Amino acid sequence: MTTIKRSDTIDLRSDTVTLPTEEMLEAIRNAELGDDVYREDPTVNRLEEMAAKKMGKEAALLVPSGTMANLVSLMSNTKRGDCVILEAESHIYWYEVGGISAIAGLLPWPIRGHMGALDPRDVEAAIRPKNIHFPDTTLVCIENTHNRAGGTVITPRQIEALSKVTREHGLKLYMDGARIFNAAVALKVDVREFTRHVDNLMFCLSKGLSCPIGSLVVGDSEFIERARRIRKILGGGMRQAGIIAAPGIIALEKMIDRLEEDHMNARILAEGIAKIDGLYVDLKRVQTNIVLVDVSGLGVDANTFIAELKKHGLLASYHSRTIVRMVTHYGIVREHIEKALTKIEEVAKYLRSQADS
Ligand SMILES: *Cc1c(COP(=O)(O)O)cnc(C)c1O
Repeated sequence: MTTIKRSDTIDLRSDTVTLPTEEMLEAIRNAELGDDVYREDPTVNRLEEMAAKKMGKEAALLVPSGTMANLVSLMSNTKRGDCVILEAESHIYWYEVGGISAIAGLLPWPIRGHMGALDPRDVEAAIRPKNIHFPDTTLVCIENTHNRAGGTVITPRQIEALSKVTREHGLKLYMDGARIFNAAVALKVDVREFTRHVDNLMFCLSKGLSCPIGSLVVGDSEFIERARRIRKILGGGMRQAGIIAAPGIIALEKMIDRLEEDHMNARILAEGIAKIDGLYVDLKRVQTNIVLVDVSGLGVDANTFIAELKKHGLLASYHSRTIVRMVTHYGIVREHIEKALTKIEEVAKYLRSQADS
C-alpha cells in the first residue's frame, strides 16, 4: 500500500477529511471534564445547550457520528415495524449499512425527489390509511443539504410545505441536517428558518465545521430524553466527552460563516470543470460545497477517472457508475482549486487521447 503525504495531495473526497484547528486542539487541552453518562461533563452540557439554542429547540444530545445521530433519531421518533418515508437517494437509505432496518426495525419507504427535495403530494400519496394490512407510517425524513443530489439546498418554503402534510396526518418530520449550516450560509438566512418547520434534526460537527468527531441530535426535551436512552443502548454513552465537545463549541462560534469560502471554491471548481471537453457538471446543482462530475463523455467509468486523478495527486470519491464527487472544505484554498483544475484537465486530455487511439 502506498501512503500519500497529505501536503502533496489535494483531497476533495469529503469535508470529513478536515483536521481540527489549532484553537480546537487548545480547547481540547483545556476542556473542563466530567462523566457525561452521569451528565456531569460541563463542556458537553454547554455544547448541547448552545446547539439547542442555535437550532431554536429545547434540547440537544452529542453523539459520536452522523450515522448514530440518524439511527438514534429514527428510533426515538418511531416504534419497531413502522413505515418511514424518505428520499430514495438519501444518506439514511444509501450509506448507513441498512441500520434503519437491521437495528431500528423500520420499513423504509423511498420516494424519488427532485434535486433532493420531496414533493409534498408524493409524500401525502405514500401515507397509507389505518388498515390491518399496513404498517403505521409515523415519520418523514428529509436531508439538507442533500448529499447525493449534489449538496442541494432544500428551502425553508419546501420544508414548510412538507410540514403541513406531516402535521395534518400526525407524522413526525425529521431532518438529516448533516450539512444544514451549508444550507443556511448558501441562502444567507438564520438556520432556524430551516429548523422551525421540523420536529427534530441532527447536524454534524465533523464535516465542514472541521471537528474531529461528533454530531448533535436536536429536538424537544421529551424526544432528547428518549434519544439519550437509545444512544446508551447503542453503546454511544460516553464518559469525558468534553474532549469532543470542546472543539464543537469552537466550531459553532467560529467555523460557520467561513463555509461561504467552500461554496465559492466549489463554484469556481464546477465552472472550470464544465469547460473541459468530455466532462459535464449540472451547474444548477452546485449550490454549496459539493460538485458532481459526469465523466461518461470521456468513455470511462467513475472509478477509472478517480484512479487517474489519484496518480496526479488529486483525490475524489465515487458517486455512481459515471459520476465522481468532489467536496471543498477547510483544508482547501483557492490555489488548490487552480491546481486541481489543471490536474483534471490533464487527466481528461489523456483519457480523450486513449479513447481516440
Ligand atoms: C456524512 C453524512 C451522514 C453521516 O455522518 P457520519 O458521521 O459519516 O456517520 C449523514 N447524513 C448525511 C447527509 C451525510 O452527508
